[in-house]
Amino acid sequence: MEGSLVKDNPLLLPLNNEKTVYDGFVTVQVTQLMYVGYIISPHKNDSPKSLEKCTLHCSWQLKHLLHGYEHIVKQRLRQSADLVSFMLELKTVLEVGLKSRPECSSIPPPQYYSQLISEMETLGWDKLLFIDTEFRTLRLKAQDSSGRQHILTVKLNTLTEAPECSADLPVPLAITWTPQSTLEQLHNQFLQVLESLTEFWDVLDEIDRNTWILEPEKPSRSNTMRRIAIGNNISIKVEVDPRHPKMLPECCLLGAEHVVTLLRNKLNANMHSWNPDSSVFHNLRDVLEIEFPSPATHGKSGLSVECGICYSYRLEAAIPDQVCNNPHCGQPFHQACLHEWLRALPSSRQSFSIVFGECPYCSKPITVKMSAQKS
Ligand SMILES: [Zn+2]
Ligand SMILES: [Zn+2]
Repeated sequence: MEGSLVKDNPLLLPLNNEKTVYDGFVTVQVTQLMYVGYIISPHKNDSPKSLEKCTLHCSWQLKHLLHGYEHIVKQRLRQSADLVSFMLELKTVLEVGLKSRPECSSIPPPQYYSQLISEMETLGWDKLLFIDTEFRTLRLKAQDSSGRQHILTVKLNTLTEAPECSADLPVPLAITWTPQSTLEQLHNQFLQVLESLTEFWDVLDEIDRNTWILEPEKPSRSNTMRRIAIGNNISIKVEVDPRHPKMLPECCLLGAEHVVTLLRNKLNANMHSWNPDSSVFHNLRDVLEIEFPSPATHGKSGLSVECGICYSYRLEAAIPDQVCNNPHCGQPFHQACLHEWLRALPSSRQSFSIVFGECPYCSKPITVKMSAQKS
């Protein structure tokens, strides 16, 4: 009997004369070797009794694969007449498990590694920033023509399947891939994508260098939005189109009404003189007829005034973007703080989603709109 067990599973060896303890590997789906560990049976192998009291000790990979199938394994152990049939059952369970869990589809063939290494040699090892222990996830370095550093993350399944590519970009990363594609070709395509975005990043880098950015706190290469400080509690939010970065961006002015109205009128009056050959920074300056406070000339403290209710600047992701319209006050508040404050006042009233009340600083009328998620 054990003759056929060893014949079916040549990598499974008995550890004692009674042939009740086995150790070794089992082959699943032809190519995959799984460490089984010990199978301990209280009966001699030729015993006709069931294997109910058998125990299976296995490696964590196998355990992970069998997770959720333990009851089936137990049931099969109980039903199998001997170890030979149990091993057959176990393989069936494993094959089902492997099919339903593609992420377990374990170790690729040796050619995968040799091909990966030769492709990396062609690309240049200096481009490799990171590789995981499974040799599946690679991070490749790339530099655009303006000297900015970028990272392309490549997740390989096998070298004949399309990899998942991702990068910190303002547009979706479209990579054309064929089974003949190499890492070097992927990298070259990525460089071309970077080149197509150079103008966009040049526009934003110029803004970042010359102004105080209130939002996002630490802009990433994919961020198309900037909230630029104009003065005390006044800012402009611009949304730059990555495909047409020098065109007039979508603008939104933020601050006390009297200042915002003034700037909006200028924007509307001068919009026609927007020059697409010039940069967004210069155009904004000309169209709004202002000088942006810059890190070279101004500290940030006067520009990012904290909320008059909670005394902090950031509340979760929000900045104090509700401003009292009294020209002598101009105190900013977080929307959530002002809403809470006004709702608690007995003199406040609500109409639809707008709460009317008094500014906690100057007692002049102030309103706040409830944000959509806080209905
Ligand atoms: Zn607040
Ligand atoms: Zn006020």
